[in-house]
Amino acid sequence: MQIDLRTLAEGETRMELDATGPSVGLPADVHALDGPLHVALILDRRGEEIWVRGSVQVVVLQQCSRCLADFGQPLELEFQVFCAKVRPHSTIGPSQLDEEDGGVHFHDGRVLTLDEEIREAVILGLPMRPVCKESCLGLCPHCGEDRNLGPCRCERGL
Ligand SMILES: [Zn+2]
Ligand SMILES: [Zn+2]
Repeated sequence: MQIDLRTLAEGETRMELDATGPSVGLPADVHALDGPLHVALILDRRGEEIWVRGSVQVVVLQQCSRCLADFGQPLELEFQVFCAKVRPHSTIGPSQLDEEDGGVHFHDGRVLTLDEEIREAVILGLPMRPVCKESCLGLCPHCGEDRNLGPCRCERGL
């Protein structure tokens, strides 16, 4: 997701954009999404310094850790990042600077790319042990039947 800094006004700008998973580095075979990522941004520009607050709404296809059913997990995520123009006399690349300057995202004065922030917000927001619903009964550890569908083989005395 790229913001054109040549046309971004001073002060606060709000925008809403949609992005696909692969376009922000979330490959479909690892993080399958149900529909696009809805991203709302508030960009507060002071010259070359831009404070970005973003919120991301997405439905991630997950497998329930209890019953193994596939389900769509709606997530609402937020991120904030401070962006500044890369120093002209710097000899190291923007990616190295990113790590060294702890949290400051550098741009080249022309475009601001927020793919990394969006990707990280989604990855950090994923539940460690997804469950399709809090009341999910899971699979029977003995016979392996889905106990959400009714009494399993063991309980039926088979
Ligand atoms: Zn489940
Ligand atoms: Zn059973």
